[in-house]
Amino acid sequence: MRDDIAIHWFRNDLRLSDNPALFDATKHKSVLPIFILDTTNAGEYAPGRASMWWLNYSLISLKESLLGNLSIYKGNPIEIITDLVSRLPINSIYWNRSYEPWVTKRDKEIKKILKSLNLVVKSSNGSLLWEPWEINKEDGTPYKVFTPFFRKGCLQTRSPRQPLSKPEKINYTYDIKKSLQIDQLNLLPKAKWESELGQHCVIGEKGAYKRLERFISQGLDQYKEGRNFPSKPYVSRLSPHLRFGEISPNQVWHTLVNMGDDKNINHFCSELGWREFSYNLLYHNPDLPKRNLQSKFDNFPWQENRMALKAWQKGQTGVPMVDAGMRELWQTGYMHNRVRMIVGSFLVKNLRLHWHHGERWFWDTLVDADLANNSASWQWIAGCGADAAPYFRIFNPITQGEKFDPNGDYIRSYVPEISNLPNKYLFCPWEAPASVLDSSGIKLGQTYPEPIINIRVSREKALEAFKSLKENNK
Ligand code: FAD
Repeated sequence: MRDDIAIHWFRNDLRLSDNPALFDATKHKSVLPIFILDTTNAGEYAPGRASMWWLNYSLISLKESLLGNLSIYKGNPIEIITDLVSRLPINSIYWNRSYEPWVTKRDKEIKKILKSLNLVVKSSNGSLLWEPWEINKEDGTPYKVFTPFFRKGCLQTRSPRQPLSKPEKINYTYDIKKSLQIDQLNLLPKAKWESELGQHCVIGEKGAYKRLERFISQGLDQYKEGRNFPSKPYVSRLSPHLRFGEISPNQVWHTLVNMGDDKNINHFCSELGWREFSYNLLYHNPDLPKRNLQSKFDNFPWQENRMALKAWQKGQTGVPMVDAGMRELWQTGYMHNRVRMIVGSFLVKNLRLHWHHGERWFWDTLVDADLANNSASWQWIAGCGADAAPYFRIFNPITQGEKFDPNGDYIRSYVPEISNLPNKYLFCPWEAPASVLDSSGIKLGQTYPEPIINIRVSREKALEAFKSLKENNK
């Protein structure tokens, strides 16, 4: 019993409360909490720059919660863990599962090696409400449509597990010999852009709870309709906290459900359901980030246009609603869901650039970049995914702006160079008479770009391309 040390391997579960694997580890006499930056197995799915930035501060917060006792490593987890086991009297290892295909492959190998060394190895579910393999249609095949997946599959299978409390006391072991300091992981990007990222966020477990409380007091009672208005505080902004497991979906779900039965709460829970749906899709389609779920899209005539892609990435398309979204993303690492749909549709339908370009850029610049949600959402936008937006649904960035940013507050905050335009032209400055542009201090093509594409014409072309695809595959 003297040498009873268990490892808790932190991954996407950077919290102490409702942490099933940590809960198990604390039943041992002593716990060695570790974090490993895997530099070997992730390949092109290594976290992007914005995620690394978030991770840096999330680790600082976690280490504080663990009273400094987080042992940190960089390299290949298989080597690092076998080395730890050879140096310290460790008999068990616990972690919460991650579902990225490269992680599950790696974890299987690690499990096999550690079991052959006679270690107890246990993985738990710390990040999903339902396991992806748990929810299937009656015939045993996976769901392809969200509503039956959620209503019939998830809700009728069982209620999500109740959250666990924070371990009362942890006796720590710390690897004084080999643990790195967080800054030795070099997670902070070199780019100047980093200074503004996450400006409204308090990163870490306490911050996640504050964010939830703030949403409950300021956003929840308007959520169902208000979630469409990007300048309003009606969405939770919990996505990066959920992505890094600073809060669990079970904690969020039960906090809200315990408040009663209400249309806003139900709608919010169904959005958590979309997250589950994405993970279910990724589990059943490990090549979701790459391969069109609907194979007829494999022959889609995507365009190649580096200049247009650059303009989109930098928020310089000359279409204000798109530029506002892309600048929000670049400046804060977050983008409102309504605007993600608008900029996504603009990229894949108006510009007809491959959705992979959007997926890659979001992967690098979102603080909530999540392989399942990002891939599934891009496939949805492009029309090639499961339960996807139909090909003829092309978001019009002008009417979307007029409807969901009617006072232009969102556009004005991210595209200040056109802020003096009256609302009538704010969403389409190219339609403003010369006198209005003049009095607003705007010279199109100089102070703000001319639109890089004609919205109406490009829409027609997209419809033609999507229609031909359909006809060719009849
Ligand atoms: P809220 O409206 O408060 O929703 C609460 C939670 O529900 C979110 O935090 C999220 O975990 C989940 N959720 C909400 N909407 C969705 C959705 N459509 N799909 C899956 N889960 C959802 N979300 C990510 O977490 N990571 C991504 O990389 C990501 N990429 C996206 C790319 C595109 C092109 C699009 C259209 C959407 C993407 N989303 C992604 C989904 C969604 O935009 C974000 O989850 C949401 O905007 C996060 O803000 P919030 O926490 O305020 O959401």
